[in-house]
Amino acid sequence: MQSCEISSESTDDPLSSGLRTHRQPRIVVIGAGLAGLAATKVLLKNGFTDVTVLEASDHIGGRVLSVQQGKATLELGATWIHGAIGNPVYHLAEDNGLLEDTTDEERSVGRISLYTKNGVSHYQTNVGKRIPKDLVEEFSDLYNEVYELTQEFFQNGKPVCAESQNSVGIFTRDVVRKRITVDPDDSESTKKLKLSMLQQYLKVESCESSSPSMDEVSLSEFGEWTEIPGAHYVIPEGFMKIVELLARDIPSSTVCLSKPIRCIHWNFSAQRQEVIDKSDDTIRDNNHNENNHSCRPRRDPVKLRSPIFLECEDEEWIMADHVIVTASLGVLKQNHEAMFSPSLPDDKVLAIEKLGISTTDKIFLEFEEPFWSPECNSIQFVWEDEAQLEQPVYPEDLWYKKICSFDVLYPPERYGHMLSGWICGQEALYMERCDDETVAETCTELLRRFTASAGPVCWRGHTQEILFHYPWCFAVRTERSHSPGRDVPGPAQSSTYKA
Ligand SMILES: Cc1cc2nc3c(=O)[nH]c(=O)nc-3n(C[C@H](O)[C@H](O)[C@H](O)COP(=O)(O)OP(=O)(O)OC[C@H]3O[C@@H](n4cnc5c(N)ncnc54)[C@H](O)[C@@H]3O)c2cc1C
Repeated sequence: MQSCEISSESTDDPLSSGLRTHRQPRIVVIGAGLAGLAATKVLLKNGFTDVTVLEASDHIGGRVLSVQQGKATLELGATWIHGAIGNPVYHLAEDNGLLEDTTDEERSVGRISLYTKNGVSHYQTNVGKRIPKDLVEEFSDLYNEVYELTQEFFQNGKPVCAESQNSVGIFTRDVVRKRITVDPDDSESTKKLKLSMLQQYLKVESCESSSPSMDEVSLSEFGEWTEIPGAHYVIPEGFMKIVELLARDIPSSTVCLSKPIRCIHWNFSAQRQEVIDKSDDTIRDNNHNENNHSCRPRRDPVKLRSPIFLECEDEEWIMADHVIVTASLGVLKQNHEAMFSPSLPDDKVLAIEKLGISTTDKIFLEFEEPFWSPECNSIQFVWEDEAQLEQPVYPEDLWYKKICSFDVLYPPERYGHMLSGWICGQEALYMERCDDETVAETCTELLRRFTASAGPVCWRGHTQEILFHYPWCFAVRTERSHSPGRDVPGPAQSSTYKA
């Protein structure tokens, strides 16, 4: 962000004038996630020495967090490097030997490790039946055909029809249901199973789109999603290695942890006098040239020329010529009004408000012994009683019905007997109110019910624990932004990972 007083084209631009006059512009980066660290690294590499990173939580990495569980490294946040050539994260990992050796054939099948390559997904119903593989494949083909249709609206500029209400969920349910209903070869019970599978597929899709439901993802923009060619790689030692690589060239004195910013006063001309009045004790300057990143009091009036003032939660005020804000969309949605003074321009506010994002959590369950067969790579939950529902929304005590599946983590030598599941939307927030034991017990019951097995006894459950430690914030476990449904079009639609 730059003060709106001075355009970047202007000769008065503090960035360029600072360089000309050898006064280094003071740049503050808010957030020490991948984006903030990458920006800081580039600035330092390009000769800017007055750079400070202010991070609300007590650690770097943001939505990347790898934890050690016994011999397994579990990813509570980002897991995969999606695609290879042209993906900077891939190149960083590859250049630093973080990826495991793989053959061309392995790369061609997509996901490397974590999930078995030749395994089979077990689609189980709530009455403990396994849906035959043939039927699953038949439904999957139908779903994928309709998925292709959803892509055409964006890719071919096809106008959305009124009945779909510009929603991926409504469109998909409508078309898939019609095709299932008119199929003369299927019995009523087969039709019911397929309709139930549709709901399960939409739950998976909503986790992948980080949306509470696919009814809130806009059909007109859905095809915007593009994939970088190549496999989806994992980093056996943990995605945190990428964070560490980015942080390696950043002096630790540059990063200020546990330093939440309350408000960015970014058009300072209007407020200058008010702040000058306050400047006695409250305005402080982060003078880290003295290799001390604690924000130090300073009363030099010259510094009041800085166009931006940052008001910290701990009441410190920090001056800057430029600020780069890397807070997530979820944080901006919740806080942008209080976080920027004056408010952000209308187009940015509209973009923040129109783009959607949802809580997306992972659940890890660890077992002493596997109760699943060796070829099983996932257990998918198909609720037969949901066949005819529109968009399922669950009350708090039934939050677990939103869990779409558990994947078997592979290989066992690395992960032990570990299952990993996803949940998103309001139900994820309900889950977060439960303690780990309750989550583990509930998920164990769910697995017992769907696999009709008395077997599985989960002895340890892990829920996602990435919390942003500052008072006003909800636990944002967001994966990626999605474009909103129905009342679109909104501006700046995006469906790519922020990383
Ligand atoms: C469960 C989950 C799974 C994911 N899986 C994948 C995956 O497999 N592959 C992939 O590529 N991506 C994945 N992602 C997405 C990926 O983690 C993010 O896109 C990426 O980490 C975002 O980095 P960022 O720096 O933009 O934002 P963040 O990591 O959110 O960093 C922003 C930082 O800003 C700080 N901050 C916010 N407000 C303030 C404030 N007021 N003052 C000071 N600091 C502040 C926050 O504490 C945070 O550290 C996943 C995300 C989640 C949650």
